[in-house]
Amino acid sequence: MKKLAIFGATGSIGTSTLKIVDHHPNRFQVTAMSAWTNLEALTILIKKYRPEVAVIGNAVLAEKLREHLPSDLSTQILHGIDGLCQAASSPEVDQVVTAIVGAAGLKPTLAAIDAGKSIALANKETLVMAGEIVMARAKEKDVTIIPVDSEHSAIFQCLPAGRRQDLAEILLTASGGPFRKCPVDAFDRITIDDALTHPNWDMGAKITIDSATLMNKGLEVIEACHLFNVAKEQIQVVVHPESIVHSMVVFKDGSVIGQMGVPDMRGAIAYALTAPERLDIAVPSPNFFDIKQLTFEPPDVSKFPCLNLAYNALGIGGTAPAVLNAANEEAVHAFLNRAIAFTEIPELVAAALADHAACIAPDLETIVTADQDARRFVQNRIAHS
Ligand code: NAD
Ligand code: MG
Repeated sequence: MKKLAIFGATGSIGTSTLKIVDHHPNRFQVTAMSAWTNLEALTILIKKYRPEVAVIGNAVLAEKLREHLPSDLSTQILHGIDGLCQAASSPEVDQVVTAIVGAAGLKPTLAAIDAGKSIALANKETLVMAGEIVMARAKEKDVTIIPVDSEHSAIFQCLPAGRRQDLAEILLTASGGPFRKCPVDAFDRITIDDALTHPNWDMGAKITIDSATLMNKGLEVIEACHLFNVAKEQIQVVVHPESIVHSMVVFKDGSVIGQMGVPDMRGAIAYALTAPERLDIAVPSPNFFDIKQLTFEPPDVSKFPCLNLAYNALGIGGTAPAVLNAANEEAVHAFLNRAIAFTEIPELVAAALADHAACIAPDLETIVTADQDARRFVQNRIAHS
């Protein structure tokens, strides 16, 4: 029985993870879970899974949560990032599924690594912000970080097909998002609903907007460099609108090994929970007679500047990727609150990066400060525009 902590249990990845748990109740026990603001949803989950620990956003919500729960439940209720860090290191946890969205995932992930827990990593922002620190800490603590992101799971599954020194490059696939065919002169009329309609994947709001700007792919390039210890020149983004090939690796003999599946996150999540074992999770394999063709094209970086912004931040290194990430989070938040237009997201990220003098080889505190400065910069820009 594997004891899981699911951080972000009420979100898209959290919900898919719980479906796998429900399918295999003899394999997994949820001993810790969290949600940030959704009190009702977390209450239902706690009653169903009866975890040892549950974490919610703040003390007021934690008090309400205690009032909502039946008295025979012994679940300990914690709150805030400190509560997540405490839950991450609970002796009742074997593996932590980091399905929190955004920079908030960094500290709980580091706490889980410090406590020697295996990590199923969905929260890509953790590696974008502090990839060097996180990977070094994992190595030091002998902790495995298994990717949940579908592309990185695919690469993780393909790499063992060859020797590391024979790897030529990684082909990171991208659906291209909802605006792949939208002419650039129509971008200023893009609405929130347009941007929240992803052609293939059903995901949380932030990553859905990131997929529409292609920032998600930029964040994934940075994530892949850290996870697999490759240079950015070894990663090529390939737009593949059918989202069947989840990514590929190319070896020096020209052989390409790809991993395929239907666009359903349960495949990647389940693999992160049991690799190298594969579970029956009631997800069908692709029906190639229905799909008929798989297509591939280069990304249009003139239409989607976020991808190059991410490559540039990665090239600068140090605090630059944390600034990219923080500026993007603030810009996406503002777009979702109707405070800015879709086209202003890359503009604000570019401005925040241009304003930032990167610190190379930063410690955690310097990264957190750079994150906060970038957020303030974007908020000020929006307030004065
Ligand atoms: P989501 O918005 O659906 O869920 C986010 C979860 O995090 C919720 O449970 C929410 O309560 C919690 N949360 C929100 N803000 C928080 C904060 N400040 N502190 C602590 N908890 C907070 O998001 P999602 O789509 O499930 O994505 C989660 C992570 O997984 C993201 O990093 C995303 O990039 C990554 N990811 C998601 C998918 C997908 O298919 N959804 C695929 C690959 C990677
Ligand atoms: Mg992905």
